[in-house]
Amino acid sequence: MPLYEYYCQPCHGVFEELRPMREAGEAVPCPECYEDADRIMPTSFAAFTFRDGYPRKIPDDGTYWHLGQKVSKRVTGGRPNEHPEINKPKPKPRLTRGERAALNDMREVAAKGDLVDLYNNPISPREVKQAYDRRDVIKKGVPARIHKDMKKKFR
Ligand SMILES: [Zn+2]
Repeated sequence: MPLYEYYCQPCHGVFEELRPMREAGEAVPCPECYEDADRIMPTSFAAFTFRDGYPRKIPDDGTYWHLGQKVSKRVTGGRPNEHPEINKPKPKPRLTRGERAALNDMREVAAKGDLVDLYNNPISPREVKQAYDRRDVIKKGVPARIHKDMKKKFR
């Protein structure tokens, strides 16, 4: 069964669910509050929610996400791009065929001007790889509510 992503409005959270393809479009109860959550973008367009300006994913175990990795504490002081729990970045694995295809898809979307980052800035096709590595690629329009709240946070 394919893995789909769902967005719960009351929790402002994103979670993944394995579902048969024919049921993918139906709402799924949120694992935290059991409200119906609607399906959002494919996983390749990473969508996160935020706690104190840091992304989180549900089920929420109180952790933060830093540069796409789970950490227990926020970065305090120092360089915002370095986290003590993430000492050395692992050497980048070669892209799989699926990842290359996803990147190409994203470049196509970007060429139409429909790809934005977490700050709602447009991403150009040649910036896609970099933005994808930072996990801050979002397809424009979906999910609109996340965009609105993000803008609030970063204003
Ligand atoms: Zn919920």
